[in-house]
Amino acid sequence: MATRFPIRGCSHKSDRHRWRRAETSRRSCPLRTVPAQPGSYVQALLPDSKEESLKTLLERLGEGDLLICDGALGTLLHTKGLAARECPESWCISHPELVQGIAEAYIEAGADIVETNSFGGNPFKLRAYGFAERCGEFNRAAAALAKRAITGKGYVAASVGPTGHILEEEGGDVTTAQLSAAFAEQAVALAAGGADAICIETMASIREAVQAIRAAKQNTQLPVICTFTFNPGAKGFRTMMGVKPDQAALAALDAGADVVGANCGNGIASMIEITGQMRAAAPRTPILIQANAGTPVIEDGKTVFLETPEYMASRVAELLQAGANVIGGCCGTSPAHIRAMAAAVRASQQAHPRKTHDDQCTRTL
Ligand SMILES: [Zn+2]
Repeated sequence: MATRFPIRGCSHKSDRHRWRRAETSRRSCPLRTVPAQPGSYVQALLPDSKEESLKTLLERLGEGDLLICDGALGTLLHTKGLAARECPESWCISHPELVQGIAEAYIEAGADIVETNSFGGNPFKLRAYGFAERCGEFNRAAAALAKRAITGKGYVAASVGPTGHILEEEGGDVTTAQLSAAFAEQAVALAAGGADAICIETMASIREAVQAIRAAKQNTQLPVICTFTFNPGAKGFRTMMGVKPDQAALAALDAGADVVGANCGNGIASMIEITGQMRAAAPRTPILIQANAGTPVIEDGKTVFLETPEYMASRVAELLQAGANVIGGCCGTSPAHIRAMAAAVRASQQAHPRKTHDDQCTRTL
């Protein structure tokens, strides 16, 4: 059984503010966030009540709970009218009710965790739309909308995607300091908006992921999730930068991630294999998996995803067996997919009484 530690320097004293150490030796309180400015747009969105009865995300995972994350966001925004060349994150300001409504649809479908509409919310990507100086505003609003939807029912995992730039040492055009500053600006704003965790996702480069994880850890008190995107190849699964699942998991942990995993790029069958490789490398770390609804295919000139809610749900038991602790969806998934997979997870929990995370680890070792 892992030792539980009180949180040093945290003003919260009760047991619910204690959390178990993962495979690295970090201490912080997941509930401490940068407060919103009084009278600000973000504070107006934040609910008045504190979630005194809700355990933290890491407490739930440490107790062996299996959790459900939400599904695709971008595709739903497009169905609601987001234009192809429009900045998705700007909708947190221009269409807040639609953005919040998507989170509410996923919560109604059974999600314990919702992500924020901030995947491309780093200053590099926002610059392409002329919005670089609105990074703080967009990200605070993104977190606040998700928080308002899920307060008292679950957690906000604030989405942080790649910058779209490659580091100089990997042949690109940005420095470590530039990446670090960009990720820090985004993470601080997401924390100020009420995020419960930072979810760094769709990563391909270990170096970029490490900068994002460190920036989140050093500039917020939030737990950090980091998931990579792998593609199948002759030598097995690799990211676009050639990183294997076990390498990605270990590098993310070493940089300070509390939860590792994979998202996008694959349907659920490939994710079972990827999960197994990550679990073997990181036996005691919670793993989050968000599969696409299959690999995209072009039908009548449109990109479509063919894995049905029923099919994805039918593979959930194998995904859990491989070691997943949190299951959501990525491109092509909908509230219907999340509802079906949530039911499969709940059924699995009932069929196999809950074990603590350490019990699971003993089994997988
Ligand atoms: Zn995706």
